[in-house]
Amino acid sequence: MSDAPADTDCLFCRIVAGEIPAEVVGESGHSLAFRDVNPQAPTHVLVVPRRHVANAGEFAEASADELADVTLLARTVAQAEGLGGDYRLVFNTGAGAGQSVFHAHLHLLGGRAMKWPPG
Ligand code: 5GP
Ligand code: ZN
Repeated sequence: MSDAPADTDCLFCRIVAGEIPAEVVGESGHSLAFRDVNPQAPTHVLVVPRRHVANAGEFAEASADELADVTLLARTVAQAEGLGGDYRLVFNTGAGAGQSVFHAHLHLLGGRAMKWPPG
């Protein structure tokens, strides 16, 4: 289980704590999945660790098992959303790469054609 204290100023810690509402679509002991408020695809879900870590690298350093748990929950949600095996997983890391919430989160995107490279 999470051993990092929740950050009271962190939006996703507050969603995990139930202090801010979100449309939860899946959960596990270590992770929570909820719909992005500004979806970029028919399915756009954020899968977050319950513990506060700033980004994917810090998350991997803190717990490889919990990083795997987020990935597995994303797969479960993708299947529940009817995406089969066709979806994109993204960790934006750093403001210059588009990260705006500094609590690690895996974007699960699917339900439309996904171009590559993403631009
Ligand atoms: P980032 O830009 O950090 O990779 O992704 C943050 C995501 O959080 C964005 O896609 C944004 O739409 C989403 N987001 C921001 N505020 C909220 C919120 O209050 N609730 C939910 N469900 N998503 C949010
Ligand atoms: Zn947090």
